[in-house]
Amino acid sequence: MVTTKTHAALLASPGLGHLIPTVELSKRLTTHHGFDVTIFVVTTATDSSETTKSPILQQISNLNGIDIIVTPPVDVSDKLDPKNPSLGLQIVLTMLESLPFIRSQILSMKFPPSVLIVDLFGTMALPMARDLNMSTYVFFATNAWFSAVTMYLPFITDEAFSRHANNHQPLLIPGCEPVRFEDTLETFVSPWGPIHEGYVNAARSILSVDGILMNTWKDLEPGATKAVNDHDILGQFIKRPVYPVGPLVRTVEPVEKKEGESENEDLILGWLDRQPAESVIYLSFGSGGTMSEVQMRELAYGLELSQQRFIWVVKQPVQGDACAAFFDTMKDGNGFTVEDYLPEGFVSRTKNVGNCVPLWAPQAEILKHPATGGFVTHCGWNSVLESILSGVPMVAWPLYAEQKMNATMLSEELGVAVRATAAEGGVVCREQIAELIRRVMVEKEGIAMRVKVKEYKISGEKALSVFGSSHESLCQMAKDCELHDLSQSSHEAK
Ligand code: UDP
Repeated sequence: MVTTKTHAALLASPGLGHLIPTVELSKRLTTHHGFDVTIFVVTTATDSSETTKSPILQQISNLNGIDIIVTPPVDVSDKLDPKNPSLGLQIVLTMLESLPFIRSQILSMKFPPSVLIVDLFGTMALPMARDLNMSTYVFFATNAWFSAVTMYLPFITDEAFSRHANNHQPLLIPGCEPVRFEDTLETFVSPWGPIHEGYVNAARSILSVDGILMNTWKDLEPGATKAVNDHDILGQFIKRPVYPVGPLVRTVEPVEKKEGESENEDLILGWLDRQPAESVIYLSFGSGGTMSEVQMRELAYGLELSQQRFIWVVKQPVQGDACAAFFDTMKDGNGFTVEDYLPEGFVSRTKNVGNCVPLWAPQAEILKHPATGGFVTHCGWNSVLESILSGVPMVAWPLYAEQKMNATMLSEELGVAVRATAAEGGVVCREQIAELIRRVMVEKEGIAMRVKVKEYKISGEKALSVFGSSHESLCQMAKDCELHDLSQSSHEAK
């Protein structure tokens, strides 16, 4: 690597949903701001082979200026409660155990990085970075609203949490929309345990970094992006520069494929080529989202009732744990086939209008395809941004983490989605599913949503273009990193 360039290390916490935005930020830093980047891909014992094989890593392995270091897989299962293995805790413990390896790798580099950028789960690496004289940044791979909630956590009183958890009153965040109890995070439902405490501590350490990046843009969230930097509003608590640098979404790099490797992908995209414009609804619940068998069957019947063409990414159903597949996204359980869990005859009845794809589909390409007209999504932020940047309106069907907040933003503020609501027993019924899909695909309401989402697509592209608000934000952050490099080298010269 060339010494005159700023060299940043980015830590991607386990899970493809965390890796993808880290990769996109890295690409932006190298191609637009002249950085060299090393990405540390932190892996758990269950996902390492899947992550390293993932097309996302293969696609960037040839890019100039980006080095990838996959950390040795870590098994933290003995430290988790087997009855309730919290996803967040699993990620945090894996990050902690991987730190000594990351440190030793940085120390052994000929031109070590001068900047460390971590995601929400990587804040335990910040003291190490300071110890190594690196400047420190946190990248919220999410929207400004949720970033604001996280950064404000240390200032929320026990009484306010108690009113939220016990009396279901909204959590008030200065300058931002309040968080309604129906949309709240699991940790805020009983905010007195060690997981909540760990989250608040992480928030505290975020408030000590040199800068904070968010995967959003000013025109998408004018209120929250203003509040976080405004010293009369939320900025008085944060006191750090907060840079909206999005929308950073997966771009698809051409890769040389081995024979047979992309057969499935070609089949899906080839099928889409033969469908009329904006006539296909795409259904996917992220890299890890799963549902119960009952819900899957209801969804299948709902799809049939909607009478729309579809592509559905089907995962093995799991009872009661919506993020069960988070680490083993592409593992096929016990050799499962989609027919095992769908209503009898569903696949053959729908074979002319639909495609059930097991486990994983080329989502970025599907959403960009002119035949795709709607997206049933779990509202993971990467999926949301990909949909907006493809001009595709959504059926918002949140499952876990901050997805309910995202669904509210999409359906109530931005007007680019309709929202699914589970009945008692937690199941969204087939009639509602059919109605929601038809509202997006064929009703007048869908036409209006399509117009709106295309306006946001244009505004997102503008934000990233030269002189656009997000481009300028990242320029500013890059300048600050250069200044840090200069002050370090003059310090060393003395
Ligand atoms: N993804 C994909 N194919 C799939 C499922 C997911 O390419 O079948 C990609 C999707 O395009 C997105 C990411 O995986 O970039 C999922 O991230 P998101 O934030 O939406 O959800 P998470 O998986 O973190 O819950």
